[in-house]
Amino acid sequence: MKDIAKKSHTMYLLDKYQLQASKKFGQNFLIDLNTIKKIVETTHINQSTCVIEIGPGIGALSEQLSYHAGHVVCYEIDTRLKDVLNESLGEFENIEIIFQDFLTVDLKKVVEKYKQDYQDVCIVANLPYYITSDILEHIISSGAQLTSIHAMVQKEVAQKLTDTNYKSPLTLMIESVGDISLDMLVSKNVFSPAPRVDSAIISIRIHKPYEPLLTPILKASFTQKRKTIYNNLKGLFNEQTKNILEECHILENKRPEELAIEDYLNLTKYL
Ligand code: SAM
Repeated sequence: MKDIAKKSHTMYLLDKYQLQASKKFGQNFLIDLNTIKKIVETTHINQSTCVIEIGPGIGALSEQLSYHAGHVVCYEIDTRLKDVLNESLGEFENIEIIFQDFLTVDLKKVVEKYKQDYQDVCIVANLPYYITSDILEHIISSGAQLTSIHAMVQKEVAQKLTDTNYKSPLTLMIESVGDISLDMLVSKNVFSPAPRVDSAIISIRIHKPYEPLLTPILKASFTQKRKTIYNNLKGLFNEQTKNILEECHILENKRPEELAIEDYLNLTKYL
């Protein structure tokens, strides 16, 4: 075992390859082995799981994932990390590294491919905070046949996403496919460089396929959060709006966050 996550090992690698963590790519590397082991425990992965990791960085989490999963596929945007990842993970036969912006990955196709050999495909990521929502939306709206998503996000974001009273297009997308939990709080002190805020691990378990028409419905409905659902949907359904709302038993003066996921799913039938 290399235990890349040990602070001394991380520092040695960053130093050797003269790497400065990139702010642009949201790089905050985990430097605490115990934390990484606990994160891996929360995922319940095993030899019949293929893990897709977003942003391996220098490979600290990827290494520990590879000891439990059947296969680990890592997507990394920063090509400066090629040499360091070659040194840190090159010898692991069940790790595959692809240098590509995850937001451009055809996830449905990728998951279909790995489902041929693995019972479960799940996502594990210490997410770059600047695109947390974009990445979660990309994963869910892909309609990929995933078992679960385990992601490190800012603590406040984790609290919002798991607050049943808070509704946004992303929380509704999540609710439409499964359930979410906040599994573990993570101190900012286990990262290098340390971010300004603490983090948390969330898990999304997927039970139902995604309805693709939900995306345009949610986008239109939340165009202006403070406006009524009628005003927001007028741009999409034009003169049909009143009738459609009536047929769905939705009061036209409701705000978008007052509607339930079932209301939004009903509305997709009119697109
Ligand atoms: N997994 C490592 C760890 O836990 O120490 C690094 C986590 S760091 C917070 C986020 C990683 O995501 C960085 O390696 C960064 O370069 C990568 N990243 C940022 N944007 C990305 C994108 N659009 N697609 C793939 N990787 C991305």
